[in-house]
Amino acid sequence: MAREVQFARSTFNRGARRARPLPQYTRGPEPVERHPHEDRPLKLASRMDRIGTETAFEAAARARALESTGRDVIHLEIGEPDFDTPRHVSEAAARALLDDAATHYTAATGIQPLREAIVADVKRWKGIDTTPEQVVVTPGAKPIMFYAMLALVDDGDEVIYPNPGFPIYESMARYVGGTPVAALLREANDFRIDLDELTGLVTDRTKLLVINTPHNPTGSILTVEDIRHLAELAVERDLVVLADEIYGRLQYEGEPLSIATLPGMAERTITLDGFSKTFAMTGWRLGYGVLPEWLVPAFSRLVINSVSCTNAFAQAGAMEALTGSQDEADAYRAEFIARRTLMIDGLNAIPGVTCRMPHGAFYAFPNVTSFGRSSAEIADHLLYDAGVCGLAGTAFGAHGEGYLRFSYANSRENLALALERIGDSLASLERTGTLVEAHS
Ligand code: PLP
Repeated sequence: MAREVQFARSTFNRGARRARPLPQYTRGPEPVERHPHEDRPLKLASRMDRIGTETAFEAAARARALESTGRDVIHLEIGEPDFDTPRHVSEAAARALLDDAATHYTAATGIQPLREAIVADVKRWKGIDTTPEQVVVTPGAKPIMFYAMLALVDDGDEVIYPNPGFPIYESMARYVGGTPVAALLREANDFRIDLDELTGLVTDRTKLLVINTPHNPTGSILTVEDIRHLAELAVERDLVVLADEIYGRLQYEGEPLSIATLPGMAERTITLDGFSKTFAMTGWRLGYGVLPEWLVPAFSRLVINSVSCTNAFAQAGAMEALTGSQDEADAYRAEFIARRTLMIDGLNAIPGVTCRMPHGAFYAFPNVTSFGRSSAEIADHLLYDAGVCGLAGTAFGAHGEGYLRFSYANSRENLALALERIGDSLASLERTGTLVEAHS
C-alpha cells in the first residue's frame, strides 16, 4: 500500500517571501513573461554552434550498428579499462545502498570522509598538501573541466590547450566564449609541449593553461623539467593551470610531478583526477578536483546549479577504492604495461605504420601518413574492412591528422587479433601517393 509521504513545511514554500538577491553575485536581467500565442521560431541557442564532442562515443555507436548486422568488431575506440571494478569497491557501494541508506543528496562538494580520503590519496601519490575543504567531488572528472572554464573564462579570454589532446578542452573553451589556443604536440618532440613555442603563445588575454600528463591520445608525459618550466611561466604570467592527471597512476616511465606542488602553484592550480581509469570505474561517474580555496565557492555553486551532488552510494565505493586494497589497481597497471609492448611492437611490424612507445595511459598513437589518406578515411576503412574500431587522430584536434588512436584497454587475445586484421587490411589499402601532412 502506498505510504503517505509527509513533506516538511519548507519543502514547498510557495508562499515564502521573495529571496533577496545573492549578495556576492550580480543578478542578470529579470525573467521576462511571454504568452503562448507569441510567434517564436524554435531554434537552438547560438552558443550550440560552438560546442564540440568526443568522437569516441560516436565511433562506438557506429561500431555497434555494424555489430548489429552480424559483423564482429574489436573495440579499440573508447578510453576505458576493460577490467571489472574491484569487487570490494562494488561491495562497499552496495552496502552503502542497501544497509546505510546512502540514497539521499549529499553535500554538494562530496561527503566529508571521501574528501578526507582524497586529501590523503593526493598526498600519497602526488605529494599535494591540501584540505578536505579544497576538494570537490563530481560525477566523473569531466565536470571539473567544464566548471573550470565556466568559472574562469570570460568572453575572449584565451585558453591554451594541447593539440592533439582530449577534445573537451577545446570544445568547452569555445562554448563558454573563450578563444582556444592550440599548443602543438609534435611527434619529433615525443608529443611533449614545446616550451619556447608555448611561451610565445601567452598573451595578456591568456587565462588558463591546460596540461595533461600522461597524455590522451599520445601517451606522452611531461618531464620534471617541463613541469618546472610551466610552473614558472604560470607564476610569471599569472595563469591558472588545469592539470589533468587522470592517468597519473598509469605513468610507466620518468618521475611523475604534480605541478600543484611547485612554488606559487597551489593557489593557481586545479588538479583533476578521478576513479574511471585507475580503478576501472568509468560507468560510476566519479571524479574530483583539488582547488585553490578561492575557487571552491564558484565550483560549489556550479555543482549545485548542474547536478546538486555526486551519487551518494558511488561515493561510498570511491572511499573504498582509495582506502581499501590497491592490489587490483596495481594489477591493472601491470597488465597495461604488458599490453603496451604487445600493441606497439605489433603496430611497428606493420609496413607503413610507425608508432612511438607511449610512456603512460593506455593508448597507441601510430603515424599512418605513408598511406596518403586522411586519418578519418583510414579509421573508417579499418572499421568496415577489418572490423577494428579505432579513432582518427583528428578526433583529438586538427593536429592529430596523420595518426590513429587505438586504446589497448582490451584483452591481449583481442589486441593480437586486431593487429593481424589491421596489418591485412592496410596491406590491401591502395596508397594514394599523396603524402598526408603530419604535424611533426
Ligand atoms: N581527462 C582525460 C584526458 C580523459 O581521457 C578522460 C576520459 O577519457 C577524462 C579526463 C574524463 O574522465 P571521466 O570518465 O572521469 O569523466
